[in-house]
Amino acid sequence: MSKRTGILLLVSGPSGSGKTTLCRRLADENEAHYSISCTTRQARPGEVDGTDYHFLAREDFQQQIEKDEFLEHAEVHTNHYGTLKSEVLDYLVKGVDVVMDIDVQGAALVRSCEDPEIQKALVDLFVMPPSEEELRARLTGRGTDAEDVIALRMRNALEEMQHWPEYSYRLVSATREEDYLNFKSLVLAERLKISRLV
Ligand code: 5GP
Repeated sequence: MSKRTGILLLVSGPSGSGKTTLCRRLADENEAHYSISCTTRQARPGEVDGTDYHFLAREDFQQQIEKDEFLEHAEVHTNHYGTLKSEVLDYLVKGVDVVMDIDVQGAALVRSCEDPEIQKALVDLFVMPPSEEELRARLTGRGTDAEDVIALRMRNALEEMQHWPEYSYRLVSATREEDYLNFKSLVLAERLKISRLV
């Protein structure tokens, strides 16, 4: 029986789309490796260094760029985010699927990457909320954020949503369970592709 190479699943979408939950669940169920990104932003309460992100000082992030450690990196809302090559390539060659939570700029950079391993592995999905009202409700959350903070998030989300036509797949969010079922179905179908056999 032939073996297959891993899938590199890029998942983008505005905050409030539920994409992080989908990516994490796939990894928690041992279906894929979650690529832990580096970021210069502050950890939020409850976030753990080395699990949610590698939280780096700006100088350390810059050093990783100089050492050519990143597959891609981008500035998102004034902070830097980057995917380490080691979080992706080491897994793909072993046939392990990798899931990445990534913004639209980062996804464009990975798409334009010429590495044949990456090109063969690539699957990109855009997750979006069902409506503007639902997005607003999700971004408003517990109602503890100021109106201007919510307005900024809303503007950013609407801007990010313009990019869905750049992706191969789109998932319009419904319930958590339905979303995960669709997401998992995409992974299962991609695994059956003959072009992935080695
Ligand atoms: P947050 O700070 O809310 O965790 O993430 C902000 C944005 O950065 C999200 O759109 C998320 O998908 C994106 N992001 C997370 N990790 C990476 C990464 O490694 N590279 C890029 N380009 N974006 C990332």
